[in-house]
Amino acid sequence: MYDSPHRRYNPLTREWILVSPHRAKRPWQGQVEKTAPPYLPDYDPTCYLCPGNERAGGINNPQYTGTFVFENDFAALLPGKVSGVRYQVQGEEPLTPPHMTPDTSPPDTLFRAEPESGVCKVICFSPRHDLTIPQLSLDEAEAVIDTWTNETAELFKRPEIAHVQVFENKGAVMGCSNPHPHSQIWSQSQIPTEPAKELASQRDYYAEYRRPLLLDYLEEEYKRGERILASNEHFTALVPFWAVWPFETLVIAHRQVASLPALSQPERRALADIYQRVTVRYDNLFEISFPYSMGFHQAPNDGADHPEWILHAHFYPPLLRSATVRKFMVGYEMLGMPQRDITPETAAQRLRELPEVHYSNAR
Ligand SMILES: [Zn+2]
Ligand SMILES: [Zn+2]
Repeated sequence: MYDSPHRRYNPLTREWILVSPHRAKRPWQGQVEKTAPPYLPDYDPTCYLCPGNERAGGINNPQYTGTFVFENDFAALLPGKVSGVRYQVQGEEPLTPPHMTPDTSPPDTLFRAEPESGVCKVICFSPRHDLTIPQLSLDEAEAVIDTWTNETAELFKRPEIAHVQVFENKGAVMGCSNPHPHSQIWSQSQIPTEPAKELASQRDYYAEYRRPLLLDYLEEEYKRGERILASNEHFTALVPFWAVWPFETLVIAHRQVASLPALSQPERRALADIYQRVTVRYDNLFEISFPYSMGFHQAPNDGADHPEWILHAHFYPPLLRSATVRKFMVGYEMLGMPQRDITPETAAQRLRELPEVHYSNAR
């Protein structure tokens, strides 16, 4: 069945994706050159994230030696309650649209806006301008996990924060504006769209089966074995059955743990290990610093137990065939549904067969 066009269901978002494996066999036009890796110095005097350098507004970074956290100078969300926002027609008397008499107006449900507040932070992984997570030592990668965990725990103490989104945007192709390896945390008073979908589906699944959806899914994946990339005692990385991006991966905790602060120290170290093993494979795939967007999905901060929620991370990398050929989400994807050519099984096999030593150290 997987050789012909079919659609697959994502039980986390309850959405479908179209898989067209026969298209991966179509002839590829044009040779693709390997791109030379850009040279990055270990310190860049013009980088606003390097130690000691000046950021926007004349603030100077400290001479930090480990991870470094600061509030985003251009935050998308601001703390505190904002007064009510309501869409209003500006200016002159409104025009009367056709089919309406002047004394009727559209219901307010068509123009909804609500105040939203939150806190946005930036987390530098290390003082080194040139070292990404797969190039750090395991101890340094664990320090990054620890920083994300501690920042999440601090934000969870604030009752006005409902959701904490930890994410890493890596590479210019993902819109990352600074090559200094860093990540972000956006926290806010409402649950954003993607985690809200996953909360609803995991809740419904748990109500029906009394088991967390992702632990059942993980168990099934181990029986099948064809999409698993790497595992350790506490985490498994796999290409999900419903992957949209060519080399998308999902990292799943092995037990019912709903957030980063609920992890034990050995689990944090195991998470750092899996993070590095996934990203080393990514870099080795086309022998470049592989771009992606990564984010953790953790349960909402609402004071409730979340027995349905399993902490997990999504990696969404855009590259398809080489360092320069990426997948675009256009046309049918924008108007219809996501679509992919190579199957998740093929992608998993390619990633699994790659060495776990970073290509820059293997030479
Ligand atoms: Zn820098
Ligand atoms: Zn998720």
